[in-house]
Amino acid sequence: MLRCGGAVNGFAPTAPPDDAVPTPAGSGEGIAMHRIRIIRYAGGNAPRWLYFHLDETPGTVPVGMFCWLVEGPGGPILVDTGAREEETVARYGDRFRYPEWPDPVALVSRHVDPADVRWLVITHVHWDHCSHNVERYPNATVVMQRRDLEARLYPPHPSFRELCFADYLDVIQKRLGERLWLIDGDAQIVPGVSTLAVGGHTLGHQAVLVDTAAGRVAIASDLVPAYENIERDVATCLHEDLLQCYRGMERIRRHSDLVLPGHDARQMERHPGGIVE
Ligand SMILES: [Zn+2]
Repeated sequence: MLRCGGAVNGFAPTAPPDDAVPTPAGSGEGIAMHRIRIIRYAGGNAPRWLYFHLDETPGTVPVGMFCWLVEGPGGPILVDTGAREEETVARYGDRFRYPEWPDPVALVSRHVDPADVRWLVITHVHWDHCSHNVERYPNATVVMQRRDLEARLYPPHPSFRELCFADYLDVIQKRLGERLWLIDGDAQIVPGVSTLAVGGHTLGHQAVLVDTAAGRVAIASDLVPAYENIERDVATCLHEDLLQCYRGMERIRRHSDLVLPGHDARQMERHPGGIVE
């Protein structure tokens, strides 16, 4: 008998997001404080229609390509890997070509030896957030939502693979071995750092909650590509589940004091020096 909600060919269908409070980020002894370094590795402008669902206002928004380095008692923790220009151009040609595109791992290396990164949290498996750079953090445990990986390996529609480098799915599956930690839903990574499984942008998209002196920060990634999405409550146009986008943004609002969007260049202006602490 086929059970409702069961996996088909390894693909688990979307479940409605629950409203449970995520695992408390702080430990019983008090809250473990962290600092976030916003690392911008490329950027340019994107048309507004890409980011705001059913919004026909002409114009562009300033975008950056980011990863986020979390420093503190549980770290170093890197959120997303970024991508190198050469692999992106080889795959997509001029579609994603930005001026001044340094190697994101080199930028991370200014602050921490990549071999010392303990956790590599992947918000979702799109090329600009999870690339072959995964292999350049040789001692990190890679934390992904099982649903996100499954939706790329067993896509419910071919378009679900459009924005990912299909060949690195092999790397993730076959070469990470015990360094791969697939999670289902919200989870605490270390005291003070948790994931919030929100879906929406991709079915298995996750945000990362980080306790800082400035309050609990949500690294929202592409569920909230721009500040305007969460400030006006408008879903991104790039979504695999529209309802999850709205429910996910509501959860982020409820569980954080401050949001870092996935691609809004203005986060560097709101946080001078790219530091949140
Ligand atoms: Zn994305």
